[in-house]
Amino acid sequence: MRLHPRTEAAKESIFPRMSQLAQRLGAVNLGQGFPSNPPPPFLLEAVRRALGRQDQYAPPAGLPALREALAEEFAVEPESVVVTSGATEALYVLLQSLVGPGDEVVVLEPFFDVYLPDAFLAGAEARLVRLDLTPEGFRLDLSALQGALTPRTRALLLNTPMNPTGLVFKERELEAIARLAQKHDLFLISDEVYDELYYGERPRRLREFAPERTFTVGSAGKRLEATGYRVGWIVGPKEFMPRLAGMRQWTSFSAPTPLQAGVAEALRVARQEGFYEALRESYRKRRDLLAQGLRALGLRIYVPEGTYFLMAELPGWDAFRLVEEARVALIPASAFYREDPPKDLFRFAFCKSEEELSLALERLAFVVNSPREAQGGAVSG
Ligand code: PMP
Repeated sequence: MRLHPRTEAAKESIFPRMSQLAQRLGAVNLGQGFPSNPPPPFLLEAVRRALGRQDQYAPPAGLPALREALAEEFAVEPESVVVTSGATEALYVLLQSLVGPGDEVVVLEPFFDVYLPDAFLAGAEARLVRLDLTPEGFRLDLSALQGALTPRTRALLLNTPMNPTGLVFKERELEAIARLAQKHDLFLISDEVYDELYYGERPRRLREFAPERTFTVGSAGKRLEATGYRVGWIVGPKEFMPRLAGMRQWTSFSAPTPLQAGVAEALRVARQEGFYEALRESYRKRRDLLAQGLRALGLRIYVPEGTYFLMAELPGWDAFRLVEEARVALIPASAFYREDPPKDLFRFAFCKSEEELSLALERLAFVVNSPREAQGGAVSG
């Protein structure tokens, strides 16, 4: 007996593997992107109130209260919203619904790891467009993007603010992408799970430039520091949403009802109480702590404009040696590239406490051959 070849997609992901290693070795885990902080009390209270009262199936399209709360935020009708079990399910359902055998979907590289298996499971081919990596940071070459389109291209998948690079795409880039999609009649999938995590101006949404063809993906896990609650959403053109809701019946049917109820209430409170502003401030502080510490070690870093990830180079290291010898868990760039990842590049998740970040910096100072160390100077965290 043999499983279907499509289970090739089941190869082990480095994210949980690194978390397990970190736990076993007592390492500081700056690998997997889950926050050390607990979710805000107003979310916990709202979920507690829903338990014992809203415990049965929700409609596949989502609990009406949550669809309404999201519709209000996105200035659309509730019929334009479908709730999913995390952004992960939203992406799966979208790829299943938009592309199939013989189709191509354009994906920017480095990419969040689910995009490629999702395209593969839909029978479509992912065509990668690699961002340029310059000393100033990652850049999207719009002509390379245009050059990747073929008559078989059906969809383009974008992530902004972007994991792992921390890039936030600019208005002119989003506008150009929207125009390209309109010209070639492509669907756009915009993964915006980090929409509230930015350090400059509020990012524009891709759907503002092409609402007729854009599906925006979001996640309560990222917004409200509760990645285990598995509540996500798709906001898209109204005429396609009943079919998408119909498709997600066959995956998990509906997201957990009490958590949807809790999130519906918490999204409103978060806006009213300035929760996202406070969250951004706290992440900005941690981003700067990590960036300064890594710079002091003489490392090349790429400071993010959004997300809670920072990329930096650790020449000569690999992630497994690092977790064993330095007891700091990081994700190597190879997790985000199909082949030939940039050398020595790692992703640091800074959604951890300041204490954890300082400890990681201390431990890295012991093992990293920084120019300062080579000159015999003091190394400070
Ligand atoms: N998209 C991106 C870019 C992500 O980084 C993540 C989580 N790491 C997801 C989607 C998945 O989000 P969720 O936990 O809501 O499934």
